Amino acid sequence: MRIILLGAPGSGKGTQGPVLAKRYGSTHISTGDLLRTSIASGSELGQRVHTYVQAGELVPDEVVLELLWGPLQEAAASGGYVLDGFPRSMRQAEEAYRRALLAEVTADAVVYLAVPDEVVRERIAARAAEGREDDTDPYVTERRLRVFHAETEPLLAFYDGRGLLVRVDASGRPDEVSIAMTASLDVRAGVPQA
Ligand code: AMP
Repeated sequence: MRIILLGAPGSGKGTQGPVLAKRYGSTHISTGDLLRTSIASGSELGQRVHTYVQAGELVPDEVVLELLWGPLQEAAASGGYVLDGFPRSMRQAEEAYRRALLAEVTADAVVYLAVPDEVVRERIAARAAEGREDDTDPYVTERRLRVFHAETEPLLAFYDGRGLLVRVDASGRPDEVSIAMTASLDVRAGVPQA
């Protein structure tokens, strides 16, 4: 199954992505993880990426697409993908759709993990101890939230218009969110219902 996972920072994409991947035999691909790996490599590209991630801004589209497209096609060829953190803007969504149509790997469903901003702030403050530098500064959290509302939220109407959107209340416990999410998706995936 090919799934796009949308949600604000701290909405649980990194937790629920692997749950979905396991259930539907797909590969979890996080653009945030790909970008952090690039930063950790210390390459020139990684240093450029770092300035954007550190500030809570979007990394330029061509950099993200370059890192993402290979792994995405590999995943699509072997059971599907769960795409976490991409697309994040209308421009990315349109470019990805254009490419995916050509490669016949368009998404089957888009899951939106809905959480109020207040919950996002609490969760990011709580996980700051885990050491992600873009989680430790409240100003960066606010910028990431603003970027989400301005750039990413418009994608909800885009995917709803294509009949793909599955909205899940993600403010509860991770196991509760997993149950709600897979209950909606099983129907689409054709998993027999009890
Ligand atoms: P995440 O791990 O998804 O919260 O992403 C962490 C950071 O990586 C974001 O705040 C952005 O700076 C960058 N990033 C991740 N995905 C994308 C994307 N699709 N486009 C641009 N920047 C991204």
